[in-house]
Amino acid sequence: MPVRKTGFIWNEKFAWFELRNYGGIIPAQAYHMQPDQHVYDPQVVRRFRNLVDVSGLLDKLVDLPFAAATTEDIGRVHTAAHIDSVVALSAHPTGGDSEDNAPIPFGAFEIASLAAGGAIAAVDAVMAREVDNVYALLRPAGHHARPDRSMGFCIFSNAAIAGRHLLDVRGAGRIAFVDWDVHHGNGTQAALYDEPRALTISLHQERLYPVDDGFIEQIGDGAAAGTNLNIPLPAGSGSEAYCEAYDRIVIPALRAFRPDIIIVPSGFDAGAMDPMGRMMVHSDGYRQLTQKLMAIADEICGGRLAFLHEGGYSRWTVPYFGLAVIEELSGISTEVVDPHLDYHKLVAGQDVLPHQRAAIEAAAVNLDRVPVHS
Ligand SMILES: [Zn+2]
Repeated sequence: MPVRKTGFIWNEKFAWFELRNYGGIIPAQAYHMQPDQHVYDPQVVRRFRNLVDVSGLLDKLVDLPFAAATTEDIGRVHTAAHIDSVVALSAHPTGGDSEDNAPIPFGAFEIASLAAGGAIAAVDAVMAREVDNVYALLRPAGHHARPDRSMGFCIFSNAAIAGRHLLDVRGAGRIAFVDWDVHHGNGTQAALYDEPRALTISLHQERLYPVDDGFIEQIGDGAAAGTNLNIPLPAGSGSEAYCEAYDRIVIPALRAFRPDIIIVPSGFDAGAMDPMGRMMVHSDGYRQLTQKLMAIADEICGGRLAFLHEGGYSRWTVPYFGLAVIEELSGISTEVVDPHLDYHKLVAGQDVLPHQRAAIEAAAVNLDRVPVHS
């Protein structure tokens, strides 16, 4: 495979967004929960970054500079009331909780602004052709944050903020999002639901989180009708089901819409062994999905792809999924072998099962509604 110039975005402070005194997602002591760690474990991104480093690949990536997003940047998606509330809660020495599973630790505003700024720098570098593609290893995640509130470990909607920046500041014509996080990209959807220049696609485990969102019937509003595609998949879907959903829906939708860039809110919680999701994608599956996105990006938008990190909760598997994706993006193989892969491939159910195919076909009815641009 040809070597490409791949950007990388990381700041150690992303791992300092740390939620203490929880057991999983439950506050310690509530419900007699013994104090333990929060499921949104900062070691996941740190170990991901460290594996890219020790593999030797990090030295071959372009370390992209970035700064915190400004209030103006964040305000293109979020209400002033939401931003003010994050500022206030995050200034409190013990932090605060904005409900909807979004604890706000001390200093969260600074780190969340830095993550949103990383998303902006990532898409800017790709649009300006400073790099061919990019992986931004951001934290806190963004795709659940709604315009008016934090939600699901997400403070600011990084991908939507980057998208708005491209449309409203950089003059991009059209943009597309392919969210492969196991949870529904409800925040990105909400921010761009009436924006005809943005195609938002989310593949997710059906009714996992949020349980009342992410349905096939949600296709976008007004002039944006047809620009939101939800692909809810049954629990247990594996790499082959994801590949089929890409071939059947995602790739044809992108080909019709012809965006200037494809942004991938990239959670690895659809991976086998994830504690939050119940899907079975393995590292070869993530490779194949990345190849499919690269091929369509080469065909329609000069290869422009920006991966913005979202969820993923297994300390032990996420680093290998991430390395596999960045090896594909850069065209550079390392000598690292995913030690879980052989086992994951042998687990029953990696093939497409009839009820999974039926779910893909049900979502495919919206393909004809996607606006066609030449
Ligand atoms: Zn997720």
